Amino acid sequence: MSMLYPTPYDVIVIGGGHAGTEAALAAARSGARTLLLTHNIETIGQMSCNPAIGGIGKGHLVKEIDALGGAMAHAADRAGIQWRTLNASKGPAVRATRCQADRDLYKAAIRAIVEGQPNLDLFQQAVDDLVIEHGQVRGVITQMGLRFATRRVVLTAGTFLAGKIHIGPAQYAGGRAGDPPATTLAQRLRELPVAAERLKTGTPPRIARDSIDFSQLEEQPGDQPMPVFSYLGSQAEHPRQVSCWIAHTSEHTHQLIRDGLDRSPLYTGQIEGTGPRYCPSIEDKVVRFADKSSHQIFIEPEGLNTREIYPNGISTSLPFDVQLALVRSIKGFEQAHITRPGYAIEYDYFDPRGLQPWLETRAIEGLYFAGQINGTTGYEEAAAQGLLAGLNAARASRDEAPWYPGRDEAYLGVLVDDLTSNGTLEPYRMFTSRAEYRLHLREDNADLRLTAIGYRLGVVPEARYQALQAKQEAIERESARLRGLWASPGNALGAELAEHLDLTVSRETHALDLLRRPGIGYRQLAGVPGIQAPVLDPAVTEQVEVQIKYAGYLERQREEIERQRRHETTAIPPGFDYEAVRGLSAEVLLKLKQAMPATVGQASRIGGVTPAAISLLLVHLKRRS
Ligand code: FAD
Repeated sequence: MSMLYPTPYDVIVIGGGHAGTEAALAAARSGARTLLLTHNIETIGQMSCNPAIGGIGKGHLVKEIDALGGAMAHAADRAGIQWRTLNASKGPAVRATRCQADRDLYKAAIRAIVEGQPNLDLFQQAVDDLVIEHGQVRGVITQMGLRFATRRVVLTAGTFLAGKIHIGPAQYAGGRAGDPPATTLAQRLRELPVAAERLKTGTPPRIARDSIDFSQLEEQPGDQPMPVFSYLGSQAEHPRQVSCWIAHTSEHTHQLIRDGLDRSPLYTGQIEGTGPRYCPSIEDKVVRFADKSSHQIFIEPEGLNTREIYPNGISTSLPFDVQLALVRSIKGFEQAHITRPGYAIEYDYFDPRGLQPWLETRAIEGLYFAGQINGTTGYEEAAAQGLLAGLNAARASRDEAPWYPGRDEAYLGVLVDDLTSNGTLEPYRMFTSRAEYRLHLREDNADLRLTAIGYRLGVVPEARYQALQAKQEAIERESARLRGLWASPGNALGAELAEHLDLTVSRETHALDLLRRPGIGYRQLAGVPGIQAPVLDPAVTEQVEVQIKYAGYLERQREEIERQRRHETTAIPPGFDYEAVRGLSAEVLLKLKQAMPATVGQASRIGGVTPAAISLLLVHLKRRS
């Protein structure tokens, strides 16, 4: 069959995973007539691996997606069955929200949001081909030969492109367990001028809950009060809460793994793709950290209505007999029954240096890539890219200029800059340490950083924007009120502070300034009668506190951002002769020549390119001009 679908679309998104759903939603929210084309409508929003959202760096991305009107935080609020704030005792920059999610509830929440989105149509069918004419996208063709016309395609095929699953020596084609691979499309993409390579990732075996002896494990209940992901969300949306558990591997487990390595596809050379450094398989951990006699495993429920358990920390592609033996060697798992074997998957990804920072391919106009196919790993990284790509595809369909945030504005900016400037040779995941301005890029202020921008871009609805304005006003009002309350050694407030907080003021000080003192937070201050604290949203009082407590550091970082910004856009001419720059080391020279950065900002972020080398480059560029 060959038929042209009668309605053209402004944007077509291929893939209904985390990147695809956010891409389609963002495009449709901004007003583009959008089609989401995916293998199977039932798997929209499916979590391929760990049923959890957030964590350090990743939670920051979820908040940013939410601040830009995306779906992930809402879905997590409706699906989170165990909530935690990681790094709760550390500074606000590295505090991060994480929830264990009920896999079915999460999928249902995403599906409901997608189905409720105006301007967005769904169609179930594998895409086998892209229509490209004169270097520009013109449409897509599905498995049954149906052609859809469009000038903007966002490809978000995840681990499906030429996906190959490995369990011990056994290997077969698959997009993830239970789903077909996208082989025809992968072949077609390999004919295009986009550089494809292989990566791999893996997942642990799942275990029947009733076959585990929980009395041998350490219980890990969630935090109270429960955190919330969306700025517009509430704890009332969270379903029933359950505990997670902690177990440990032993020397015996490690010996079983070592004995099985000769049949491990990772070590026999059967798997060629590089795996995720920060989420390694258990066989990788045992080999790389040979001196460790035990590794922690988080025992996580897959959901409220399933008896399956996800043992986080033993991802493996060892043969099934080794998987069973290693699982049963863990205390509490002696009788364990595996319901699904662990496996590794190899898939095609594309060198993200072939992308513009707004995720359009440099080679083909109108073709955008987002998610795992850009070399990242994780739902949050995929979703954030999807939102950016969908938003920009929609903008391009209206001939509007592309938008992307800078490294000083959002983790999303760090993510796309890292990928498009440096590329990646292993699955890339987000960490707070990747951001140089992390004190500015906190979870608690993603809405203050991005929602007004999102509103101007058309992806944030009016109600959310108004909620932001109300919050900003409340922060300013309360800060101003505290600034107007004076405590001095002789006055009533000074005496109350001494009585209630054991706090002495040696000179006249306003109440806002008191928040700079260590150990004094808004909550303590509000307990002093003379402060007359109004009842406020905790998100407001948190900002009042953080903004003043860290004002000095934030100011210094702002100055640094300004300094960097001046050089960020300083252009390096195409074909620039780095050999002519005096004093560059052989290593720096090689790296710059390989990467050929377009700006000094990009050059400064190439691994191994030192600030000293950047100074030499700047001096040279100045002399030339
Ligand atoms: P996906 O979620 O894979 O979605 C791709 C979508 O595209 C699917 O809906 C698919 O049906 C559709 N599709 C593909 N090709 C076509 C086509 N030709 N036509 C129509 N539709 C198509 N992340 C971690 O952070 N830690 C881990 O430990 C981890 N382990 C993983 C283990 C395994 C086995 C797998 C499969 C993934 C793992 N991940 C892990 C990665 C995580 O699942 C992905 O990062 C995330 O799902 C990527 O989102 P995505 O939207 O890019 O792709």
